[in-house]
This record gives sequence, C-alpha cells and structure tokens, in this order.
Amino acid sequence: MEQVLLVRYGEIHLKGLNRPFFEQKLMQGIRHSLDPLGFPVKVKQDQGRIFVFGLPGQAMEEAVDRLSRVFGIHSISPAVAVEKDYAAIRDAALAMVGRRLERDPAIHTFKCFCRRSDKRFPMRSEDMNRELGHDILEAYAMLSVDVHHPDMQVWVEVREQAFLYSQEVPGPNGMPTGTAGRAALLISGGIDSPVAGYLMAKRGLELSAVHFYSYPYTSERARDKVVDLTRLISRYAGPIRLHLVPFTEIQLTIYEKCPPKETTVLMRRLMMRIAEAWARQDGALALITGEALGQVASQTIESLCVTDDAVSMPVFRPLIGFDKEEIISIAKKIDTFETSILPYEDCCTVFVPQHPVTKPSVEKLRASEALVDWTEMIEKAIKDTETILVNSR
Ligand code: ATP
Ligand code: MG
Repeated sequence: MEQVLLVRYGEIHLKGLNRPFFEQKLMQGIRHSLDPLGFPVKVKQDQGRIFVFGLPGQAMEEAVDRLSRVFGIHSISPAVAVEKDYAAIRDAALAMVGRRLERDPAIHTFKCFCRRSDKRFPMRSEDMNRELGHDILEAYAMLSVDVHHPDMQVWVEVREQAFLYSQEVPGPNGMPTGTAGRAALLISGGIDSPVAGYLMAKRGLELSAVHFYSYPYTSERARDKVVDLTRLISRYAGPIRLHLVPFTEIQLTIYEKCPPKETTVLMRRLMMRIAEAWARQDGALALITGEALGQVASQTIESLCVTDDAVSMPVFRPLIGFDKEEIISIAKKIDTFETSILPYEDCCTVFVPQHPVTKPSVEKLRASEALVDWTEMIEKAIKDTETILVNSR
C-alpha cells in the first residue's frame, strides 16, 4: 500500500491539441510547489489525472495545502494505491474508513463509488459497489448506506493500480502558471492590486511587479508591506521580480509644475510609463492594475483613457466590473486582506488633490504632461530602482 495524491484538473480538458503542453506546465507547477518539502516526489499523468507519489504520510497535509494554491488544479484527493485485487481493495477501504471515523465521529452514512477504467479487472463497478458496501457495513455497525446525501464518499478507481480516497480538497482552478506568458503588475499597498495580480496569474500568467514609493513621504514600512503582499501573491503565482521605484522627485515635480486638479492622473501616466519600461525589460507583454470603473476620480472611463494613452502595451484590469465588497472577499480568500489594511500610507494617498478632475481629456493631459521634460527623471527613477526576487513557494 502506498500513499499518493490524486490531482484533478479542469479547463485544460478544453485545450485540444495543446493539451500536452498545459499538462506539462501543470506537472511542473506541482513539482515546484512540492520541492520545498524535500522529498523525491514522482509526478505522473494518466488518463486525465495527475498522480503524485513519494510523499510520506506526515507530509500529506502540507502537500495538499500547497497544491490547493497551484493554478490549473480543480481538486486534490489524498489516496492510497493498492494492487488490483478485491481483497487488497477491501482491506485498504476498511482501514481508510476507520481513519475517517476516528477523525470525524459525526459520519453516520456512506456510499461507495467504484470505477474501473481498466476493463480487464474482473469485477464490474456495480458489483464492487455492492460488495464493498456490504463489507464496510459488516465492519462498522454504526454506519448505514445513503445513496443521496452520504456523509462520506468511498471512492475506488481501478487503473494501473487501484486508488482509494474519501476526500476532495478544492484547488484554485485557472490555467497552469507559465502557459500565458508574462505581465507586469502595478502593485500598491492597497486591497485591489494584489487581487488583480492574483486573478491574472490565475489565467496562467507569470508576474513581474512594479511599486512606486515616495520616501520620506511614504515610510519604510509601507515598502515592506508591498514586499509582504508580493510574497503572498507568489504563493500562487510563483517567483515574482519586484521593482521598487523611487518616485519622490517625479511626484514633487508634478505637484509643483502641473495643474493641481490633474496631479493624480498625471502621476498615473508616469507610473504606467515606468512600469512599461520594466515590463519590456522582463519580457512582459501587458500591464495589470487594480482599477475598478468609477471607484475613485482616477478610475472614471475618461481617466482610464488618459492613463492608457501613456503606454502602448495593453492594460489588463481584471477588477474593472467588481464592487469593493467582491474584491474584499477575494482578498480574504487569498490572505492578502489583513496585510493590505495595515495603515501605512501609499504615495497616491499622500499626494491626493482636493478636487481632482473626473473627466480629463487626453489632449489636455498630454499638454499638461508636456509642461515638463520627464526624460531624465524617468531615466533616473529606473536607474535607482531596486529589484528583488520574491518567492514564497
Ligand atoms: P489599490 O487598492 O490597488 O491601491 P486603489 O483603489 O487604491 O487600488 P489607486 O490608488 O487609484 O486605486 O490605484 C489604482 C491602481 O494603480 C492600483 O490598483 C495599482 O495597480 C496602481 N497603483 C497605485 N499606487 C501605486 C504604487 N504606489 N505603485 C504601483 N502601482 C500603484
Ligand atoms: Mg491605492
């Protein structure tokens, strides 16, 4: 008898001829996620499932927790593998049921789900369901069968070996990391941008991240908070190159030289430009922001047009149609919320004008931006950027 993890995947099934590529990337994601546990795991793919061998019993819980953050995974079941022989299957099933009952005394009913993809196995699925159900009832007098709403499902899949399991832990779904190229996330210390990064990484993108700070107007701790948030996203998205860009000089210049109503949108344009330069450097093909339509003055449709006008890369805004509450519920689910609400100032909040324009025009903003030659300041900000590799897998 051997312990094994059985991994189901979702949308990859739709991928037709590209499917092997997606499966390879998913297996790579699984290996990377389990690497830090330090066991020589074997990851094998068989008929629409992935099996992970080589983990000892005591590592299973952490392994399942790790896999629950690997994009592309629909669900995970800790299973045991035994030889394809009814007596071995029965013994393993009885032991598995016993362990479940010990952990969860509230279980009173069960149902067997036997499946045979190896048709050479002599017992038909229905016969095995009946026989195994009977043997479980005999061994555990407190249990009864409920075919509609069982407290516990006892699964047996007969393939190369027989696999038994009784639990299914949900994965994050999405597409395997690295199947969709790379994009650069503009990350602030707020609630929205980490969620935006997570949602785009979920579609298979690898991430770079760019953060603008305005020391001494923003504190060292605000910067640390962004590193922490990036680390939390990298639990899902894998390694992230984080560029920390000093933005004080540009921000003070905007403040000093440009119309006060337009400072926020101008600042957003300059951020986008520098982010685009880092994106190019990292081989990213798009930018990601946490903007939601109408959330604040700089997120009206006019403002977004003005922001987009500053760059030539596409800008992904996965939260564009989300309410704040919806965003917060994802932030809580992925564990970034508590860090995001720590009270350290972001450079956007420090320099916020009292009456920002809500309907800026592209022509006007281009003109205001042209009041200053930004070339050298942008070059300097890029030169003084500190880049760190964040990886919390
Ligand atoms: P968030 O919660 O992500 O901070 P927000 O609702 O506070 O978003 P803004 O402050 O207007 O909105 O920022 C809009 C977007 O601009 C952010 O989601 C983020 O992508 C980007 N952004 C804002 N401030 C910074 C910063 N200091 N560094 C990098 N990107 C930033
Ligand atoms: Mg913000």
